[in-house]
Amino acid sequence: MRGTIETDPWNPKPEVIARAAAILRSGGLVAFPTETVYGLGADGLNPQAVEKIFQAKGRPQDNPLILHLSVPQEAEELAELDSRARAVMGAFWPGPLTLVLPARPAVPEAVRAGLPTVALRIPDHPVALALIRKTGRPIAGPSANRSGRPSPTDAAAVAADLGESVELILDAGNVNIGLESTVIDLTGEKILLLRPGGMPIERLEEFFGTPLGAPGGGEKKRSPGTRYRHYAPDVPVYIWDHKEELPGAIDLAQSAFIGMTPPPFGFARMVLFDSQENYARGVFAAFRRLEAEGVRHIVAEWPAPSGIGLALRDRILRAKEAVTTTRWESQRL
Ligand code: AMP
Ligand code: MG
Repeated sequence: MRGTIETDPWNPKPEVIARAAAILRSGGLVAFPTETVYGLGADGLNPQAVEKIFQAKGRPQDNPLILHLSVPQEAEELAELDSRARAVMGAFWPGPLTLVLPARPAVPEAVRAGLPTVALRIPDHPVALALIRKTGRPIAGPSANRSGRPSPTDAAAVAADLGESVELILDAGNVNIGLESTVIDLTGEKILLLRPGGMPIERLEEFFGTPLGAPGGGEKKRSPGTRYRHYAPDVPVYIWDHKEELPGAIDLAQSAFIGMTPPPFGFARMVLFDSQENYARGVFAAFRRLEAEGVRHIVAEWPAPSGIGLALRDRILRAKEAVTTTRWESQRL
């Protein structure tokens, strides 16, 4: 049976979690809430189940998946850990930080997309943690959207994109952060930022006492997912960086603005947020909603690059155009 079950984000009912875990253990797909965005879960040790994720999302086969754990000890059999990796886990998990580490043989090739590394995270959400614990396996969980679309920040967005291909959606309301996890690479001496996300890099750099590196020329070092256009509504997105002019193509009477600073232009539709955190939390839902309303153009305010702002810049840039380089690197440095 396909469907959605509403669940209390703080106190999920054991019978609901048991039902979802049974689907995962039998190789099915369950969408579940995390603190970042909704995830599309499958048993991360079952290659056939993992394959269903790629099918359902239309995800390129060379884009690996994050394995979600409930306690750091579960990482021991999945990755080669050193004292630095254990210290990071102790400091930042559960939380919106994904670690790329050398993979151990237990990790199926489909999860790694053929890479010698694996990405791991413990989400900070009671429903996700209960589900992972009850399933008793690491859960492969990319964002629960069709590949390339804005990530889902509520259950309705999951149903709109994947309702046909997922057996169950656990609906715990709106997510807290609204953008995906920060991904760092711990496989080399220099720690690399592969994707800015929910964990501000200022906190990581304070912890490590050194700036994070940017993935250099070796394409393999990059998060493969950052090569693709992503996070994009079916409406062209433009960036407004507080200039007095807008791109010429924009017909204000049919366009929407999203951001924090009311702009000096007469947009037909305005979606204003009162903080950078709320902008991050609401940007994907705003994209989807404005698309449904039929606006012709979306103009997004270019946020400051501090805190969650760096990740917000990255997502807006990727929604705007095909980005083949990690341009936030130059935005920041
Ligand atoms: P998603 O779960 O859809 O938000 O995407 C997960 C992100 O983590 C993508 O950008 C992936 O390319 C990245 N990722 C997953 N596994 C690895 C890995 N082994 N090495 C580098 N990046 C990874
Ligand atoms: Mg995604």
